[in-house]
Amino acid sequence: MRRKNVFLENVEVLDFAAEGKAIAKQEGKIIFIQGAIPGDLVNIQLTKSKKDWAEAKLVKIVRPSANRMTPFCSHFGNCGGCKWQMLPYSLQLQYKQNEVIQNLTRLGKIALPECSPIIGSEKERYYRNKLEFTFSNKRYRTNEELKNFSGKEEIYALPAEPALGFHVPKLFDKVLDIETCYLMEEPTNAIRNVIKQFALDQQMEFYDIKNHTGWLRNIMMRIATTGEIMLNVIMAYDSIQKNVLLDFIHTQFPEITALLYTINHKLNDSIYDLEPKVYKGNSYILEKLENFQFKISAKSFFQTNTLQAEKLYQVTRSFAELTGKETVYDLYCGTGSIGIFCSKEAKKVIGVELIEEAITDAKENAALNNLTHCSFFAGDVLDICTEDFFAVHGKPDVLITDPPRAGMHQKLVEKILSIKAPLVVYVSCNSATQARDLQLLDALYKVEKMQPVDMFPHTHHIENVVQLKLR
Ligand code: SAH
Repeated sequence: MRRKNVFLENVEVLDFAAEGKAIAKQEGKIIFIQGAIPGDLVNIQLTKSKKDWAEAKLVKIVRPSANRMTPFCSHFGNCGGCKWQMLPYSLQLQYKQNEVIQNLTRLGKIALPECSPIIGSEKERYYRNKLEFTFSNKRYRTNEELKNFSGKEEIYALPAEPALGFHVPKLFDKVLDIETCYLMEEPTNAIRNVIKQFALDQQMEFYDIKNHTGWLRNIMMRIATTGEIMLNVIMAYDSIQKNVLLDFIHTQFPEITALLYTINHKLNDSIYDLEPKVYKGNSYILEKLENFQFKISAKSFFQTNTLQAEKLYQVTRSFAELTGKETVYDLYCGTGSIGIFCSKEAKKVIGVELIEEAITDAKENAALNNLTHCSFFAGDVLDICTEDFFAVHGKPDVLITDPPRAGMHQKLVEKILSIKAPLVVYVSCNSATQARDLQLLDALYKVEKMQPVDMFPHTHHIENVVQLKLR
């Protein structure tokens, strides 16, 4: 069983392991199977095989699990998103909650309070507020499309076709053309499809990311619950066609309140070192969480599920147990949203964030909400949170931390242990690294409450909020 390409029949899928991979066991070895769910009986082919574990491709479902549902999206299986559509949402939530508890007990090895029932997303579809689509002159052809061709040569001889959609996992130059995506409200699909058709009619060239030729590269859309819409069209170089395209979009979709374009000459698609330009309307859209307003620019970070962000922040604020007297630190604050959300119940808020532009946004957001007791500092949390800094700005009564997937740096955990904030709220998008950090914090802190919140239906991702109190 050490060899790859081994074919196994009638394998019973037992459970989900971390990151949404289904698992089976054969001869004492754990096999991870992408696309299967517990209860399935499957035929699989090993793609990687080690001493204790293997990875396998699902070849055939011999007997589907009784829980299986028909995926609602026609792109399911080819698109990298929404991979859990075959699982009923109630089960997705169960598995997510289970993963959080497993990680915190097995990896964290700490005593846990009872986990509050996971907060599911009211919207199972159309829950995102931001999406990016990529133009490519090489449309990805699905296995389904290619099944009637006799051989590779015939397939290689097919002419390349243009596409506007999502990158195909592991194939950086191929793009899956998207007809309908269920992740964001209309007019998302309408805008994308109309732009694609117009660009084709006008013979505007779609970008070739391998050869770096062509003009149209990406579109990024954001929709706020206030009804404001942003569209940023990213092109490889300036061209007289730019006005033709943007005027057309403006006429077709007058509801776009921020119509932007960005010129990207670079080899990669990232726009973070580029300057989006306003073509019509504003450079930002306004979003609201409760009664707080947030200005979101093209490059700003904002939680991508607005309704659930409100719930996540409500949990965070309630775990912070604020009375109005507290100095609150908001570490990894992004554009300041958590701190601002908690500000009415705090004496002062201090936000710390690595990205300079995010701090600029955070300051603007505080001003927009007439908050004068919130201050924000740009830099690495480790460099900013020094003894001197705490001496000048006050020791935290409440410390909120919301690190990226890698979790907190060990030195920051040590810093928290030395500064001894009486109450810590740890918001995490990766319960495995949260577990590691909680184990270190366990020396002085006890986990009093935990609350998983689902921001991303049909994916395995899960946020978890934990309240810690000094022992
Ligand atoms: N709390 C925010 C953003 C959380 S995302 C919100 O809810 O919107 C995590 C943030 O941590 C990102 O904005 C990222 O830029 C920031 N970050 C990552 N490493 C950092 C570091 N070493 N020091 C400070 N901020 C960091």
